[in-house]
Amino acid sequence: MNFLEERIQKDGIVKEGNVLKVDSFLNHQMDIELFDQIGAEFQKRFAGKPINKILTIEASGIGIACMTAKHFHAPVVFAKKSKSINIEGEMYVAEVESFTHKCKNQVIVSKKFLGPDDHILIIDDFLANGCALQGLISIVTEAGATLEGIGITIEKGFQAGGRIIRNLGYHLESLAIVDAMDPQTGHITFRSQD
Ligand code: 5GP
Repeated sequence: MNFLEERIQKDGIVKEGNVLKVDSFLNHQMDIELFDQIGAEFQKRFAGKPINKILTIEASGIGIACMTAKHFHAPVVFAKKSKSINIEGEMYVAEVESFTHKCKNQVIVSKKFLGPDDHILIIDDFLANGCALQGLISIVTEAGATLEGIGITIEKGFQAGGRIIRNLGYHLESLAIVDAMDPQTGHITFRSQD
């Protein structure tokens, strides 16, 4: 087990409805030493790529993206969730359905901060069905930027997102892939990544 899998095993809580709660170290209270380790691991996995910007989505991707950005010496841009679009023209816009909140949001990124010269690493906390990622990918595509890779902290491998994104040919690295989890026993099965 890697450092993150050990932490999920120790402090993660399996909820009904395929939700893994990790709010004691990732989603609410944040363990910055752990985030730093996560950032270092992404840097290792995407070494040699000309990444000049990290892209994530608010809110829970931001902390991890920031610590990762330190290792790449690059700025972070986060897509903002917005209900009313009255700024069209200056913004890239994508529609994203939230897995945890079961609602649709438009996410926006200012055209000032993303363009054809950028080489992007997308970072997020979770990958479930892949809606958040698809939204971010469509924004990168619309900007004419190059998507160098996608770094996910926890992928729920029993949901479709990871398969869909890999089938599209993107370089996706997930630091922990949960293949099964049981809300009755709390048992979590990780995919072997050796
Ligand atoms: P997706 O768009 O891939 O279906 O879901 C991704 C987003 O939903 C993540 O950014 C994360 O905020 C949230 N999410 C999905 N599954 C879980 C989960 O099991 N636990 C937590 N804490 N968040 C999740």
